[in-house]
Amino acid sequence: MSTQPPLGFSFEFFPPNTDAGREKLGGVRDALAARKPRFFSVTYGAGGSTQARTFDTVRTVRRSGVTTAPHLSCVGSDKSALRDLLHAYREDGVDSLVALRGDLPSGMGGAGELRYANELVEFIRDETGDHFEIAVAAYPEAHPQAPSFERDLENFARKARAGANIAITQYFFTAEAYFHFVERVRAMGIDTPIVPGIMPITNYTKLARFSDACGADIPRWIRKQLEAYGDDSDSIQAFGTEVVSNLCRRLLDGGAPGLHFYTLNQSAPTLRVLDNLN
Ligand code: FAD
Repeated sequence: MSTQPPLGFSFEFFPPNTDAGREKLGGVRDALAARKPRFFSVTYGAGGSTQARTFDTVRTVRRSGVTTAPHLSCVGSDKSALRDLLHAYREDGVDSLVALRGDLPSGMGGAGELRYANELVEFIRDETGDHFEIAVAAYPEAHPQAPSFERDLENFARKARAGANIAITQYFFTAEAYFHFVERVRAMGIDTPIVPGIMPITNYTKLARFSDACGADIPRWIRKQLEAYGDDSDSIQAFGTEVVSNLCRRLLDGGAPGLHFYTLNQSAPTLRVLDNLN
């Protein structure tokens, strides 16, 4: 593969909470900006817990000249706070968003006025028309709280019909899960581009913890191999790069319109995969 897919690559960051983290992100941003991504995105803590940091990080990241999409979640927020934030972003020149429900840590306040991401997409369209390009989340292996795969598909369709422009998936390691999901969505008459979310593999313990929390499946053969490497980080890195590069190749060869990398504010693991693809 020598050319970029139609929707290219995008890279996700989280808002750092230390000076060292902020300084490091500057270098990561520049290294990834050199690959001419379609956009960067910056995550948001549910209930608005990172609101100021997300806003500031979006400003910092945008200085690279790359379009930057803040994530925005509705859980635990009221409409007036969301409205203020939308208008603040618009006035700041932001024109893309990733719209989510989010997850409130247990014991942290009530659900808020908008219960699901489709309601947030509707709200953004009502408030700001077509100003924002809106991305939403998709779950090829089903969202962990969904009562069934079918119901989750219907709920995904609600977000698309509410006016989402693209979808970015939760990460996964089985290409067939993505192709199956896309086929089912297309059969519902929805043509929203669905960009696979890609998690580089760098550390087994962290990956296992993350995957438990978000319901992403780590296939047994990958888990067993990573476990066998123990603390041998060179082997984990080599194996992880190969597994994720092969996954990306299969996805692009099978028609995925782009790739969205969960960088965890590190450039090297993502760049190793991109170098393999090119
Ligand atoms: P929804 O689409 O609202 O779905 C949540 C659950 O409710 C699903 O089980 C769905 O089937 C069900 N559902 C949806 N609509 C309805 C309805 N109308 N009626 C009944 N049931 C319904 N989290 C953060 O806190 N911050 C982030 O920055 C962040 N970024 C993310 C980026 C991506 C690309 C992805 C894939 C996830 C991200 N998350 C983030 C995690 C996300 O917030 C969680 O997965 C959350 O549990 C669901 O959010 P959602 O927008 O997919 O919710």
